[in-house]
Amino acid sequence: MTQTATRPATDDPIDDPIDAPVREQGRTGLGDALTAALDGAYHGLRQQVRDSLTADDLLRDPSMSMAEARAWVKESLMALAARGWGNAGYPVDGKATDVEAGVVSFEALAHGDLSLTIKGGVQFGLFGGAIEGLGTEQQVREWLPDIIATRHLGCFAMTELGHGSDVHSLETTLTYDPETDEIVVHSPTPTATKAYIGNAAEHGRSAATFGQLWVDGVLHGVHCVLVPIRDDAGADLPGVTTADHGHKGGLLGVDNGMITFDQVRVPRTNLLAKFGLIDADGRYVSAIDSESRRFFTMLGTLVRGRVCVGAAAGIAGRRALSIATRYALQRRQFPVPGGEGEVLLLDYASHQRRLFPWIARAYALGFAHNDLIRLLVECRSPSVTEARRRELESRAAGLKVAETRFANDVCQVAREACGGAGYMAENQLTLLRNDVDIFATFEGDNTVLQQLVAKGLLLGYREGWTGLDRRETFVKTADLVGRMVVELTYARTITDRLVAAARRQSGEASILDRSWHALMFVEREKHVLESLAARLQAAAKASDRFAAVNALQDHMIYAAHVHTDRIVLESFIGGIEAVSDPEAKRVLNKLCDLYAVSTLCDDRGWFLEHGRMSAARSKSLVTTVDRLCADLRPHALAVVEGLGIPSHLLGAQMIAPQE
Ligand SMILES: Cc1cc2nc3c(=O)[nH]c(=O)nc-3n(C[C@H](O)[C@H](O)[C@H](O)COP(=O)(O)OP(=O)(O)OC[C@H]3O[C@@H](n4cnc5c(N)ncnc54)[C@H](O)[C@@H]3O)c2cc1C
Repeated sequence: MTQTATRPATDDPIDDPIDAPVREQGRTGLGDALTAALDGAYHGLRQQVRDSLTADDLLRDPSMSMAEARAWVKESLMALAARGWGNAGYPVDGKATDVEAGVVSFEALAHGDLSLTIKGGVQFGLFGGAIEGLGTEQQVREWLPDIIATRHLGCFAMTELGHGSDVHSLETTLTYDPETDEIVVHSPTPTATKAYIGNAAEHGRSAATFGQLWVDGVLHGVHCVLVPIRDDAGADLPGVTTADHGHKGGLLGVDNGMITFDQVRVPRTNLLAKFGLIDADGRYVSAIDSESRRFFTMLGTLVRGRVCVGAAAGIAGRRALSIATRYALQRRQFPVPGGEGEVLLLDYASHQRRLFPWIARAYALGFAHNDLIRLLVECRSPSVTEARRRELESRAAGLKVAETRFANDVCQVAREACGGAGYMAENQLTLLRNDVDIFATFEGDNTVLQQLVAKGLLLGYREGWTGLDRRETFVKTADLVGRMVVELTYARTITDRLVAAARRQSGEASILDRSWHALMFVEREKHVLESLAARLQAAAKASDRFAAVNALQDHMIYAAHVHTDRIVLESFIGGIEAVSDPEAKRVLNKLCDLYAVSTLCDDRGWFLEHGRMSAARSKSLVTTVDRLCADLRPHALAVVEGLGIPSHLLGAQMIAPQE
């Protein structure tokens, strides 16, 4: 019986995946309502998956050696696969691909050991995802069942020692040999060595290997071919040399390694051929003429991995916050002045200030992620517009950056908030912090992704610049920037309404006025993009174009950052509108205020410098954050329960079990 994210129970008992619910007792009603709100349209699916996971499934003893951790992770993944875990999100048993189930299953693994999450991500998301995204129907039918059942463990071998962010320049060659009807896979230089590859050090039997495809002396750009790398006994196959990266900064249970190929031959039909194939006559055929468009189309099909990594980071951050907040609700330090007993950590204003803005951000990102999943599903449709696809890529990149930055920052904040106890491995926070670190780099380095977001934002009106002088460019971009974020989503309509209301107001708006928040986020983005567009246009005319554009990199990264802030706020506002429980709605509105005000507060230098805010308003942002934190204090437990991390999966020894 499948025990993972199939759809919630139907009339058919076979489809009900929950054998033995392990739902925790004693949660607050408000906590439940907040979880339902944050889960949004995916509540049933997410609850079902959470209910099916036990501590034994997901939590690893942090004192394990590397060898033990790798073995535990492999066995745990196989045990989950035996319960049908890998099926989620793939077309199995004649059913259509259920993208939501795939994403939710993956993010659920992040409730525990992140090595297990990433091992699952490598096997089902990257390796399986390459076959599903780049393979033909026949190839998917032939290879996917063994992959999702973990009978065939494999790698996604894209990165090389020489090229990581710039995968267009990979050096591995895939050369068609018409004499034998084979593809010859080769690492022509030391820097062509595949590096950091998950499953490559020990467990992988094959690698979805990316390289430059040559057919009849013509280069067709980056393609992917399935290459067997080990025999059943685990020995390297002839021509393949693997190496083990050994101990890393985290993710101890994942066997990352290197692979080099010395004229390794595979059948022509091992080329993943959805977007380009070599036919039986040895000719290269593709429906996409442009090599670069083909390359970006191929990368586009892999966007789900980026969505999943962002989600997992978000969950890991929520777990750290849940641990630290629960600890702050039981730990006391220093006597109550003039009273009895000692003060609870969470009653200190500074402690509230350390944790609550992050909790608010966790909610904000959660709502934004729900919208991203919706867009991901929408983009599976063949009729979806190119603009919408571009929006998906941009949103997935921007949100992955925001979520992984959040996770990295919050794990450190949570560790410090728990003092010495937070440093003990048995309390999970150091493990989480170490494991989540690399999320900022894999599935797209964050800095490089932010440049991608900024470029995408500017793409919509680049044509409009042609022939314009600098002043005209400002006018043109001002006109276009508002329309640039391609489609009016439900949430966008809400923001537009709020911004219009704020513009109609005379006099200074209240600091807690949602329409003022929306106006500030939108105005900042608009200004940053307009000025970036104008500067880029000027740079394009410079004699040293690289130097001129290079000087704008910080501006581009900032543009991506403020753009993501704005879409996250929109999703938060839109998510709250859909909530019916009045108490949950009230608390969510406070959290949304806190997200908005603390984001503005963190960037108040920009608003002051650009005359968008008075000094008095800037100062009152600081006091308002404090006030909102105090307002939320009575709801602290419910608010962390709402984050949806079941207490049996916290795994921190220092947290006393709930009554
Ligand atoms: C634990 C782990 C697991 C991994 N698993 C896999 C896997 O299974 N399969 C796989 O294919 N890969 C995997 N990777 C590789 C990962 O995807 C790459 O490390 C990542 O894409 C970054 O590439 P790089 O390491 O070459 O860094 P680089 O691209 O060299 O970047 C180094 C630094 O330079 C900066 N930089 C680069 N280009 C620019 C630019 N244009 N402008 C400004 N700054 C720039 C970056 O921001 C970064 O800070 C894994 C890596 C690790 C560490």
